[in-house]
Amino acid sequence: PDDMSPSQQIGYDKFLGGLLIEGFNEISCRSRYQFARYHKNSTRIPSSYLLERLRRQEALQKKCGPGTRSYMQAVQHLMSGQGINMTDCNYLFLTIHAGLGNRMLEIASAFLYALLTNRILLLDRYKEIGDLFCEPFPGTSWLIPADFPLNYGEFTQSSPESYGNMLQNKVVGGNTDRSLSGSRPPYVFLYLDGNYEFHDKLFFCEDDQQFLQGVPWLIMRTDMYFIPSLFLIPSYQDELSRLFPEKDAVFHHLARYLFHPTNSIWYSVTRYYRSYLARADKRVGIQIRIFEKEGILQRNGKFPHVLQQILSCAQKEKLLPETSMTDDAATATENNRTIAVLTTSLTSWYSDQIREKYTEHRAVDGTRVEVYQPSHEEYQRSRNKKHNMKAVAEIYLLSMTDVLITSGFSTFGYAAQGLSGLTPWIMFRSENHVVPDPPCRRAMSIEPCFHQAPYYDCKAKRNGDLGKVVPFVRHCEDVSWGLKVV
Ligand code: GDP
Repeated sequence: PDDMSPSQQIGYDKFLGGLLIEGFNEISCRSRYQFARYHKNSTRIPSSYLLERLRRQEALQKKCGPGTRSYMQAVQHLMSGQGINMTDCNYLFLTIHAGLGNRMLEIASAFLYALLTNRILLLDRYKEIGDLFCEPFPGTSWLIPADFPLNYGEFTQSSPESYGNMLQNKVVGGNTDRSLSGSRPPYVFLYLDGNYEFHDKLFFCEDDQQFLQGVPWLIMRTDMYFIPSLFLIPSYQDELSRLFPEKDAVFHHLARYLFHPTNSIWYSVTRYYRSYLARADKRVGIQIRIFEKEGILQRNGKFPHVLQQILSCAQKEKLLPETSMTDDAATATENNRTIAVLTTSLTSWYSDQIREKYTEHRAVDGTRVEVYQPSHEEYQRSRNKKHNMKAVAEIYLLSMTDVLITSGFSTFGYAAQGLSGLTPWIMFRSENHVVPDPPCRRAMSIEPCFHQAPYYDCKAKRNGDLGKVVPFVRHCEDVSWGLKVV
């Protein structure tokens, strides 16, 4: 129901359909078991096979994680420089650099890839992940130990260790079947950032996956949600359909499983929610992300056409009431409804304008519209801890709303919609400062978009339209060349 607030929601399922297990210390990470109190029970039920595989992954993470004998041996082998055999403990180490939305998408992608390939997922410890999120796996850590010996910070796309580079220089692969060719290096660097190139993208081909299966350590750098392309790799297809019979809930389940904001973030989220959002009859989240180039006349992210787009989207789709042009109190209808609008943006200008609009003119149906925005950071500072904590907090606040309007192209919005399970209205990027028509459209699914998805058809060995291979992987609404699961 629309009027649900945390205190009113009874019977919430704190284990999220079995995604979470009992036994974590509640006090050291309150968000883990309190998430359900602030979110509607999901209509998406995780499959029992997904739950089984999560438990198996947890056991593997514990068996091979930092501090274990297996881990120490694996690190020794890593440095020995010899091609060695695979053991039970093989690793996927994800380096981290991007904004918070991107980070959540890439961690979820890497986790699923690790699960599919029976690897332990470890994360860069220097990008304050530990300040943002609690440990998701019981009895072990997902942060790489400080004494990890590789200088991964220096790896680039053109490093000799990069897989694309190895292919290009014919260190591996070549004309022979890559799955059969010679010995494997102890580690390979996978460069999967948005500006990756042809050889890097061969990561998404079956033969290359066969080859990589024999490499004990994969060091991955990415800033993208690459899961849609995993659905196109034949050897993963069966497993993926068993894990996710409802295909469009992949990120939804993984995000609820993996991400639990640390106590100080959770405290600010829940305090804000209770102070400003809980009592409203309906909560409308509006995520405003401006990718426009700033001109001489438009500074500080203030674009009148974007404001117009937000309002026309919200009113046309009846997410917010129209405002009356005449302010004749005698003719005004009254109702006792309150809508709380939660905006997130780097600037406060949009929320100020929306608030002003509803203060100066009453809503035609008499609804009270209140507008809140937790922060306005002005510009992106992805190396700043406090800044990143605010970003996480706002992603979670957005995910607690009842209706979501997001900005196309933005992973910040994808993360919120995935956590909440709400199908958002997406505002498309405008061209030449003209409000697009329609100003927004309902998304096809709650899944994030893989922005720079490869378009190489591995089997045909030429470029192709990968949005047409299977019915459930299509081009995104907001990024025409991207791919998303629907
Ligand atoms: P994307 O660039 O929109 O795909 O989203 P990301 O989250 O990956 O990167 C944008 C970064 O800019 C965020 O992580 C924040 O650091 C900052 N940012 C952008 N929009 C907001 C916002 O609405 N609120 C806050 N607090 N930070 C934002």
